[in-house]
Amino acid sequence: MIGIGVDIGGTFVKLYVMNENGEIIRKEKVETNYENGAEAFLQQIAGFINQIKAEFSDHKVAVGVGAPGDVDNQNGVLRYNPNLKFKDVDDWPLADILEKMTGIRPHVANDATMAAWGVYESTLNRQANNVLVITLGTGVGGGLIINKELYQGSNGTAGEVGHTKIASTKTGPQCGCGARGCLEAFVGTIGIRRRVMEGVLEHPQSILAQMVAKEKNFKIELVSRAADRGCPLALKIWEDTGFFLGIGISNICLVLDVDTVVLTGGVSGAAKYFLPATENVLHHQQIQTPFKKLKLMVSQDPNIGGVGAAMYAIHQELKK
Ligand SMILES: [Zn+2]
Repeated sequence: MIGIGVDIGGTFVKLYVMNENGEIIRKEKVETNYENGAEAFLQQIAGFINQIKAEFSDHKVAVGVGAPGDVDNQNGVLRYNPNLKFKDVDDWPLADILEKMTGIRPHVANDATMAAWGVYESTLNRQANNVLVITLGTGVGGGLIINKELYQGSNGTAGEVGHTKIASTKTGPQCGCGARGCLEAFVGTIGIRRRVMEGVLEHPQSILAQMVAKEKNFKIELVSRAADRGCPLALKIWEDTGFFLGIGISNICLVLDVDTVVLTGGVSGAAKYFLPATENVLHHQQIQTPFKKLKLMVSQDPNIGGVGAAMYAIHQELKK
């Protein structure tokens, strides 16, 4: 069987062709084309699927789609997505439209959920039972593997780790979702940036403050570069990030008792600076059992979204 993984993003669409052994046969990255509307955009993806279908005509082809936003995984509908700039695509029946265009019913899920399956397949080689994957970037998303199967919840929204609360919903920092006190408002790039700007005002002579003043556009890498140079402010910002992340992770571990937590996404690249503080929180929980053997890992594999979608589609079709 051949699996096609489609990883839809606001800026790029990544397309992966994989075999059952988890080998990438082909990958492509195209810009998300908004010019001709949503239908034409899907037509382009369908064109790729049809081309692969023709090329591998002696194989069964399975299709998986990871889409950003709120996805109804059972019906393959993108309920809501603030990141795609198409008009009138609320309740967008992705699976129906793609099936009509290609003859293949795709498996559609939230992109972080598909990425979690990608981590399970390629980073962990399925060597875990219960896994929490957290994607750390501008947004903080997540996915769950429970008893070796992808867990998507009753509505397809399981794993919204970023919007669990770790502070007051009245006085905590504002999150991109509109609420206050979300984990994302502390450990997502916007939350980190907020603490950088506060810290820079307090410590204008710090290495980080000088770097921020020089750069036109703030990038999270600045905090790591300042930390590389021993800047106490930058080190403190990473330490606090790790501490908040530890609180978020421990909450989920207390509920689900997972054996492995994997961090992915751009911010996870700074793990050497924030992970000790995260581990410290986990190791100082009153209830120790869920944390004693917990594996905390980082995966910087850029392919997990598309690989996860392709391999999840194969996994589902093989079960039929
Ligand atoms: Zn939120």
